[in-house]
Amino acid sequence: MTTGKVYLVGAGPGDPELLTVKAARLLRDADAVLHDELVTPQILRLANPAAWLHNVGKRCGTRKITQEEINFLMVGLASAGLQVVRLKGGDPLIFGRAGEEIEALRRAGIAYEIVPGITAALGAAAGAAIPLTDRRGPAAVVFVTGRRAADQEERDWQHFVRSGATLAIYMPGRNYSQITSRLSKAGLAGDTPCAVVSRATTAEQQLHVTTIGELPGAPALAAPALLIVGEVVRLAAQSMPLVPAADIEQFLSHTIELNPRELAS
Ligand code: SAH
Repeated sequence: MTTGKVYLVGAGPGDPELLTVKAARLLRDADAVLHDELVTPQILRLANPAAWLHNVGKRCGTRKITQEEINFLMVGLASAGLQVVRLKGGDPLIFGRAGEEIEALRRAGIAYEIVPGITAALGAAAGAAIPLTDRRGPAAVVFVTGRRAADQEERDWQHFVRSGATLAIYMPGRNYSQITSRLSKAGLAGDTPCAVVSRATTAEQQLHVTTIGELPGAPALAAPALLIVGEVVRLAAQSMPLVPAADIEQFLSHTIELNPRELAS
């Protein structure tokens, strides 16, 4: 009997072309695919047609299957000698409960491998053409979940705001006024620009640019959505000054002069 293995694979933010070559190969060769709700049907279509496909996703807090059951399934299928792809939206190591799954696999002595994917913050930034860092502005990005509102995290939010880092807020929920009040309490100015990016990188992508102060009035775009907060949102909206044609010509002639292939001929 062949030995089974579990691959924790990132499916990226939605566009199938943003899968890694390795993820596509593993899907094609899989015996079983345990996927999250977020994984799009276009990506699932790339899986081996003979593979056992199972949606183990839970969304908006409605539990369909517990984490323990998912762990049990992974361990059971791999123990039976199957190649199991545990397919997660974005990257498996970001807000993906990978820690618990890795622990279960280790405890059961099952071989595993992690295949990274493009996380939603990067997909959303690309989809909205927002640089997450900029040499004229923030030098850091924070990936944070909007889900946990516990008191002990208040200090964390103050710390993030003071750092001046761009915030990529996963799971912002539909109650934007909660986010506005949390960020304002942490000291963020109400005129700080922000962008809600919904279903980034898919055909249904939607973008709403506003400010933290005005965010509560923003339309609740379809899930999944991600909130990008920081001056970079303003920079992205600015149009670049046009370069005079004469400057371009001068630049090109200079570049051609320096082109080694031209020099050799
Ligand atoms: N592991 C995933 C994140 C899972 S948490 C990753 O690395 O991307 C789920 C959250 O990710 C959603 O609530 C949403 O905030 C964000 N998300 C995932 N896909 C998205 C998409 N296509 N567009 C916008 N946000 C997305």
